[in-house]
Amino acid sequence: MPIESSGPTGNLLLDALSDPDRALIAPHLERTTYARGETAFEAGAAVTHVIFPCRDTILALVVTTRDGRTAETATIGHDGAAGAVVGGGRVPAFAKGMVQIGGSVLRLEADRLEEAAGRSASLHDLFMRYADCFVAQLLQTAACNALHPIEQRCLRWLLTIQDRIEGDTLPVTHELLAAMLGVQRTYLTRILRVLQDQGLIRVGRGRITVLDRDAVSASACECHARLRIRCETVLGTVYGPASRTAIASADG
Ligand SMILES: [Zn+2]
Repeated sequence: MPIESSGPTGNLLLDALSDPDRALIAPHLERTTYARGETAFEAGAAVTHVIFPCRDTILALVVTTRDGRTAETATIGHDGAAGAVVGGGRVPAFAKGMVQIGGSVLRLEADRLEEAAGRSASLHDLFMRYADCFVAQLLQTAACNALHPIEQRCLRWLLTIQDRIEGDTLPVTHELLAAMLGVQRTYLTRILRVLQDQGLIRVGRGRITVLDRDAVSASACECHARLRIRCETVLGTVYGPASRTAIASADG
């Protein structure tokens, strides 16, 4: 299906492009759908496309250790793009791109994006700013994993997901959450029970509901708020108040 040169796509980065910039890449965007748990790209594989999650779709960049354990290093939803964002598609993926919440994405050949960036300074600037936010997320996550307790990291992760989907109920399983946080499932279940007893969340089968966003924000570590401020500063027009309305009205 051809992508229109104007109108909401369901991805904030694409929707922030000016009409002339959008026209440079619109003919090359292709829409596809990912299922939860699907691998968008493997670590070590060539990254030929930039992937723009639309609406509620969320990808995670996951690092797997030699003994098979995993940890999430970045969460990418309708606010951004995955694959070839920093390396430009000329180097293999370092982390695996895993679909956390399935749905619609737009894909663009990395070469096409580079070509468009070469022709438009404003398009180049937007993607450089996004790359800054992406790297900030990696840096903050490294600090968070080293310094903050698991309960706070868990709440941070729930806030990060909630930012990227509609509503308070997050379609995440204990298995997924344990894999993202790099802990055993049984340990995670104990953590969730404590957070539930504190009235912060309600745990259901295959879903977790954020009961009190303000209380969860107050109990989480500062990493989530710091990143939001950073991204709103660097990409203000992308994350402005109109963005949620645009997402809600996208055809995705
Ligand atoms: Zn933290």
